[in-house]
Amino acid sequence: MGRLSGAWLKSKLKFLKNMDCPDQARCFEILQLVLDEEADEAQRERFELQIKNCMPCYKRYNLDVAIKDVLKNKIEVKSVPEDLVDSIKFKIKNAT
Ligand SMILES: [Zn+2]
Repeated sequence: MGRLSGAWLKSKLKFLKNMDCPDQARCFEILQLVLDEEADEAQRERFELQIKNCMPCYKRYNLDVAIKDVLKNKIEVKSVPEDLVDSIKFKIKNAT
């Protein structure tokens, strides 16, 4: 079993939050809709266009998806299988 501390995740999120996005409010709004699976087709298209042109938000999106996977699978964040930790670390490494 590996360890994935909340503090570590928080520091990653803080790092991403500090990244520069030219249109953060709009990106974040679309991002939330897509992550919550509430975006309609037009919003998804806009998201894909926007995210391709916005590296900070693209990275944030990847991290959010990785975290969401953990939460969705109802896995204890403090005690998760080693391979899952590795896969999250890999995703985050690619995202940062
Ligand atoms: Zn953005």
